[in-house]
Amino acid sequence: MRYLSTRGGMPPKTFTEILLGGLAPDGGLTIPEFYPVIHTAELETWRTLDYPSLAFEILSRFIDDIPANDLRALITRTYTAEVFGSNEITPVQTLAPNLHLLHLSNGPTLAFKDMAMQFLGNLFEYVLAQKNEELNILGATSGDTGSSAEYAMRGKRGIRVFMLSPHGKMSAFQTAQMFSLQDENIFNLAIEGVFDDCQDIVKAVSNDQAFKQKYRIGAVNSINWARIAAQIIYYFKAYFAVTRSSQETVSFSVPSGNFGNIFAGHVARMMGLPIKQLILATNENDVLDEFFRTGLYRPRTTAETKQTSSPSMDISKASNFERFIFDLTGRDAARVKELWQAVDQGGSFDLSQTDLWEKIQDFGIVSGTSNHAARIATIRDIYKQFNTLIDTHTADGLKVGRALHTADTPLICLETALPVKFADSIQEAVGFTPERPAGYNDLEKLPQRFERMPADTEQVKQFIANQIA
Ligand SMILES: *Cc1c(COP(=O)(O)O)cnc(C)c1O
Repeated sequence: MRYLSTRGGMPPKTFTEILLGGLAPDGGLTIPEFYPVIHTAELETWRTLDYPSLAFEILSRFIDDIPANDLRALITRTYTAEVFGSNEITPVQTLAPNLHLLHLSNGPTLAFKDMAMQFLGNLFEYVLAQKNEELNILGATSGDTGSSAEYAMRGKRGIRVFMLSPHGKMSAFQTAQMFSLQDENIFNLAIEGVFDDCQDIVKAVSNDQAFKQKYRIGAVNSINWARIAAQIIYYFKAYFAVTRSSQETVSFSVPSGNFGNIFAGHVARMMGLPIKQLILATNENDVLDEFFRTGLYRPRTTAETKQTSSPSMDISKASNFERFIFDLTGRDAARVKELWQAVDQGGSFDLSQTDLWEKIQDFGIVSGTSNHAARIATIRDIYKQFNTLIDTHTADGLKVGRALHTADTPLICLETALPVKFADSIQEAVGFTPERPAGYNDLEKLPQRFERMPADTEQVKQFIANQIA
């Protein structure tokens, strides 16, 4: 399997060649040169596989430059009951006939990002050792991504993590989750400012090519192809959990932000998994819903981006969306390049009057928007009807999913975080706060390790340089 750029300006590369880079050199996103198609007979042989075996079948189609035995070992080490709470790894809970909840949040940071990030940690460590290289991961976080990256990379050889967060602006739980890590390769930088200040510093450091090369600075953001690949697995797993034969179709509803999770569902569908609808749910930040309803893709400015009670979906532009448009154009890189010329200059594009808009229904994606009142009502309703607590993001998915899905098809709603992470909204919805899983009760009392500093790029660079020297 070789990888291309969505903008056509990269010679084909192998998986391990694209793994540690971010964007392709031409500014596009990396994408496999084709999607391996799994025919019905083969799909049926996967039905009874356990999670690691299924993961190997899927990932080995995308990763063919790591010896099979090594890849299998990395996968087996990642997807364990010890890390994900059960042998099923991603259990499916049936709420009602044709209504299911796919649990993706039983990893160490209680959000679905662990599903891919835990694999990435093991994969990075392996590939860096092979290449005899080191990597210093630099990132900015307002919550979920940062902690997921830290828990995936803690204690890994050849890797350090420098994670910037706005000092005093994260919840006590999120702060404690990150700052209680005592691993020597994890550095929490509490920046005196807001999240945008953190992100600006990361951008400034990444734009300094000399510094970036000298200190081997990298990222683990959501455009990393390995993260997408690892998220394909649970679409197959859930399909097998709710069907009896590969003649049946299912629909998924996906709380969406950067279009990473639902894009993995799209790939599963392109591989031949019988998915009828992929239902995309946004919160008040409805960039993606606007596109799928009208054909207009208009990224927002930071100032236009609203702070909501499903904060991990508060995005202004959807970083993985370019990959979908690449497929929509029939993999026409020149056309993608042209469309993103406007986007990269802060503009937009409108496909409604083009030939592409007619093709959109071939992809099964429908969309809708949720808001605070709807999400609180959904949490309350699901609790009353099914005695099950869901978090705010999952509630957006359920709200939109129940409204848009065709009744004769099983609907699988992706749970993307545990309710305990958003205790205030749960309190508002049902009048009590959720219980924490075992081991998380005294989290805020643990000693915390972090470095407080002003929002100053030079000081951050100096700090990084000092740790590496
Ligand atoms: C990241 C995240 C999302 C959005 O996923 P994308 O892949 O960015 O679309 C939804 N819910 C939670 C809890 C998240 O952490």
